[in-house]
Amino acid sequence: MQICRSISDVRAAVRAMRQKGQTIGLVPTMGALHAGHMALVAAAKADNDAVIATIFVNPTQFGNPEDLLKYPRTEEADLALLEAAGVSAVFLPGVEDMYPDGAETIVETTKLANMLHGLVRPGHYRGVCTVVTKLFNIATADNAYFGEKDYQQLQVIRRMAMDLNVPTAVHGVPTVRETDGLAMSSRNVRLNAADRAAAVVLNAALTQAERAAASGASIEQIAAEIRAIITAEPRARLVAIDIVQALTLAPVSGHPGGTIGIMISAEFGPADNTVLLIDQREITL
Ligand code: AMP
Repeated sequence: MQICRSISDVRAAVRAMRQKGQTIGLVPTMGALHAGHMALVAAAKADNDAVIATIFVNPTQFGNPEDLLKYPRTEEADLALLEAAGVSAVFLPGVEDMYPDGAETIVETTKLANMLHGLVRPGHYRGVCTVVTKLFNIATADNAYFGEKDYQQLQVIRRMAMDLNVPTAVHGVPTVRETDGLAMSSRNVRLNAADRAAAVVLNAALTQAERAAASGASIEQIAAEIRAIITAEPRARLVAIDIVQALTLAPVSGHPGGTIGIMISAEFGPADNTVLLIDQREITL
């Protein structure tokens, strides 16, 4: 596995792969890798001859400087996981490589970035889109893989890639869960034992929502069931339930057809160390 710390290193790795006629799959991450990230790597390996993973804690997608400082960094363990999974090259740029002095260009999906979760975290999706565009241009991969867990992020990246005629195909990968159903996340380690146990309520609510949808419930009934389940868990503080059309993220009501996304978020833990967890389900009605 090649370890590329500069843009010129990774470009050289890409050239060598292309000279061998290899197709390339890209897996962008912020590190602190877990089985969810490794599912993206597995999907990339299944579809491509070579896989490039990136580890970059992107400062422009953090609103709060303290959050950025607190973000877990586990480089050695991450590299061991990627190597064991058969990744060809890892790109670990420094902030100064990605944002040299004078950088001023941003990439923003003007609608999708500024609704739902984007309203809670202003500038977040602009930071994501800008860094992902840069990674797409650096890696020039055939395919790139993103988790469905970050549902709005996936739709933002799909839209950006479509609007900017990005030649890399964007793929969503289903959420990987702990055995009790909690969606894997680098944030889960910040939960104490009681909150960790309570956090399964998110998946439980979504499973019930899926059942309700299958038996013909309206969007309003589905939302009410989710609300009832989460608010019955005293350790969870419900933040948002958004039931939207896939791709556009436009809110739906009544009995819509097609594919909908259910996005939920709740906070756990004390006020001075709150952990915000998100989860989602995509359902075709
Ligand atoms: P992050 O390092 O948190 O920015 O995540 C990197 C990529 O891994 C993103 O595309 C996430 O959506 C994806 N990801 C994170 N958690 C999971 C999970 N539990 N299952 C599948 N993909 C995930």
